[in-house]
Amino acid sequence: ERIVIAIDGPSGSGKSSTAKGVARALGLAYLDTGAMYRAVTCAYLDAGVDPSDQAGVIRETLAADLQISTDPDLEQVVVNGVEVTTRIREPEVSAKVSAVSTVAECRANLVARQRAIIEGAANGIVAEGRDITTVVAPDADVRLLLTADPEIRMARRKAELGDKVDASQLADQVLRRDADDSTLVNFTTAADGVTHLDCTYLNLDETIAAVLDLVAS
Ligand code: C5P
Repeated sequence: ERIVIAIDGPSGSGKSSTAKGVARALGLAYLDTGAMYRAVTCAYLDAGVDPSDQAGVIRETLAADLQISTDPDLEQVVVNGVEVTTRIREPEVSAKVSAVSTVAECRANLVARQRAIIEGAANGIVAEGRDITTVVAPDADVRLLLTADPEIRMARRKAELGDKVDASQLADQVLRRDADDSTLVNFTTAADGVTHLDCTYLNLDETIAAVLDLVAS
């Protein structure tokens, strides 16, 4: 039957790789909601809107024509007709995404789009982000908070991004975004009914296996 799996966690917790692996294993769609916040960031920047211009950021969020692949084997994000699949991972976008994610009007708009994508997934979906277990899909069949110690998350980001990042950029990508995002979600305790999985000492395959166990139980 149709199954919805919601995974939340901080930056670098491995939730994207885990969610994709679980989606592949179960033949489900996959939704990276962070990619949507990032794509909208590209849209407001391309419109010449400054991050401090809240009305402008809201306007560009509501107007954004956003297309995102839900195939776990195809990463593709297009906003206002422009492919931004690789650009959304650039440090400038990471640094300016909070102008979208901290604004209630922007969140409401993206949450509505995310719910429509989840509802439209015929076989079911694995959706990951910061507020999936609590706001976007609180009635998901399986809800999971995936965490890992900051040192491990920085090491994983480094492995992902390669030698082009230095220590201060890594701290910026992980620690500063933890601080930015802490106003959105409490990452230290799981909400009611949400299973907390600490994957500090688990590799990717072990983490995926742990999630599949939960789904089967
Ligand atoms: O998951 P990722 O690190 O790519 O998300 C980028 C940013 O988008 C996060 O730092 C957060 O500010 C925002 N976000 C959010 N809610 C989500 C997913 C991401 O606020 N569900």
